[in-house]
Amino acid sequence: MKLVDSFADVARFVALRRDIHMHPELGFEEHRTSQIVAEKLREWGVEVHAGIAGTGVVGVLRNGTGHRSIGLRADLDALPLQEENRFAHRSRHDGRMHACGHDGHTAMLLAAAWHLAQSRDFDGTVNFIFQPAEEMGKAGALKMVQEGLFERFPCEAVFALHNFAVPTGRFALNPGPLMASSNTWKVTVHGRGTHASQPHTGVDPVAAVIDLGQQLQTLVPKVIPSTERALLAVTQIQGSGAPNVIPDEAWVGGTVRTFSVEATDSIEAGIRRLADGIAAAHGCRAELSFRRASPPVVNHAKEAAFAADVMREVVGAERVDDAFPAVMAAEDFAHMLRARPGCYAFIGNGDGGHRLPEHGPGPCIIHNTSFDFNDEIIPIGASYFVRLAQKWLART
Ligand SMILES: [Zn+2]
Ligand SMILES: [Zn+2]
Repeated sequence: MKLVDSFADVARFVALRRDIHMHPELGFEEHRTSQIVAEKLREWGVEVHAGIAGTGVVGVLRNGTGHRSIGLRADLDALPLQEENRFAHRSRHDGRMHACGHDGHTAMLLAAAWHLAQSRDFDGTVNFIFQPAEEMGKAGALKMVQEGLFERFPCEAVFALHNFAVPTGRFALNPGPLMASSNTWKVTVHGRGTHASQPHTGVDPVAAVIDLGQQLQTLVPKVIPSTERALLAVTQIQGSGAPNVIPDEAWVGGTVRTFSVEATDSIEAGIRRLADGIAAAHGCRAELSFRRASPPVVNHAKEAAFAADVMREVVGAERVDDAFPAVMAAEDFAHMLRARPGCYAFIGNGDGGHRLPEHGPGPCIIHNTSFDFNDEIIPIGASYFVRLAQKWLART
């Protein structure tokens, strides 16, 4: 491994990461976290722009006379989960937890900013993008883009890292779709309610949603080529609030994950067709709401190759998987990648076995109540960001 020398001691960034872990804040409420980020950047001489998309912060660091530019992004928010870890840096807030490691992403990007602000060994502009509200479909990245992120802070390309359950310190990425689009759907079936003992006097919407839920299980292979990956999950179903009441309406809902807009279009059309047909067969009427929460994360081939080269320089070729299979989870950095070329990648947080004394009982994987970001990878991720900026903005 060839880490940046000044990251031989990252105690201050481990302490900072743990402090953020202790004070998790949900999307668009990251006031304390965002204030810490702004204070640190200012202290190191980085120009600070706060209040973008609410609690977002952009740090701008210029050096030399070059006109080239790069964007490096971290996310700030936590999840509404009850932490089960009992170590000293556990969450101080009931029902809120850094269970996705955004505390670590923020610490790694701050460490990179600290180093670059001192060394200034690049020619051009580095934009450190700290975005709010990545979780739960709140789309903080989209909000930043809509508020003119890339017009105010021009970036030729934009890069981000997320910790993932692969061995510690490894990198994983691919040059195309890496994460799925996330879409939520809900079909409400309207019938006519009645007493459950006299079904012939009403029109039963519950029977229709049960049928629909069954038929949807086999929709994907009928509309998506078998060479592609896509997923439809039926996860919610709701009828009457009482056992002896046939309600006026019932609903069924879930999520759809795809790797292309075309696949999303086909599945949405398929749900609509089945919903209309099955509801009609039951004498009911269906109403579909289909929400496209996040597009797929699609890396740009040239920037992904550039990123993989930097990773190989930092951790060695044997620790970089540049043909990692796409995962079905979603990430709102997709919006930034639609606005600018760039690359999203995973950094190994350990394959679930990472443990500190008084860790919770569950596996150390993201969105688990026993998760914790692995501090060992702070110097690795920070070195990646530093080398990425140095190499992108190399003096010519
Ligand atoms: Zn998450
Ligand atoms: Zn996350």
